[in-house]
Amino acid sequence: MKNNLLKKIVFALFFVPIIYSCSSSDSETEVVDEEEIGITELSSAFEAFNSDAVTVTLSDDGTEIDIETTGFPNHKSIYWETTNALYEDEPNVKKTTQDTYIGGGRGEASSFTVDATPNLTGNTVATELGTIGIAVSGSAIFNDQEGSGDLDGAAASLDWAGAHKGPGVYHYHLEPRPFSNDDDKLVGILLDGVFIYGRKCSTTGTYPADLDASGGHTTTTIYDTTPIYHYHIINEVYPAANYAYEPAYVLFAGPFQGY
Ligand SMILES: [Zn+2]
Ligand SMILES: [Zn+2]
Repeated sequence: MKNNLLKKIVFALFFVPIIYSCSSSDSETEVVDEEEIGITELSSAFEAFNSDAVTVTLSDDGTEIDIETTGFPNHKSIYWETTNALYEDEPNVKKTTQDTYIGGGRGEASSFTVDATPNLTGNTVATELGTIGIAVSGSAIFNDQEGSGDLDGAAASLDWAGAHKGPGVYHYHLEPRPFSNDDDKLVGILLDGVFIYGRKCSTTGTYPADLDASGGHTTTTIYDTTPIYHYHIINEVYPAANYAYEPAYVLFAGPFQGY
């Protein structure tokens, strides 16, 4: 009896405060979560992605989206192996030589986690070399830089999709004609969780005139009946003299608005 009472006191002294502190830290977590509101279902915009390449999963709490991709695009290119059904000769493209063909390199498959609700605080983050987003085709989006310089030197190697390979993943630098050619179609999602569309906006059917420095604005889209912040490819010709398919439009030069 005495022993049981002692146990209860010990329990009260040590375990109850632990339980209490757990529940109090839970409520603190909930306060934080209120700032980052989870979503209950993925945007229907993801239905536009190439499902052979891209798998999209919403986290249990609805705050993060996991995007996995094979990195392989669902359109023709000179960068496919010549035996592939999607291979197309592009006589005016000066193919890169670092990597042989799509699927012939290493590390082409990749996965990214993006915020389900972009943090549109007004703070911007510069883009970096490497993958800055995933296009609806399944391949990577890069910015307007190649190595340490601008695109000019590499423009001759860009295919009709404004993309090339090597070293590493097949990736877009310019307006990707196979799936957005002077229109309002979805181009992809950037790693800050913001979707990017073609040069026109579905709200007006023409080139938006109210874009910020990143090509972003807040209106309805093909997939959103309530206004949402999204990017566009900016309708400004990029003077890449060596590009085989002029005019060229940079896909996204940054900065990110959603981090
Ligand atoms: Zn490149
Ligand atoms: Zn728009």
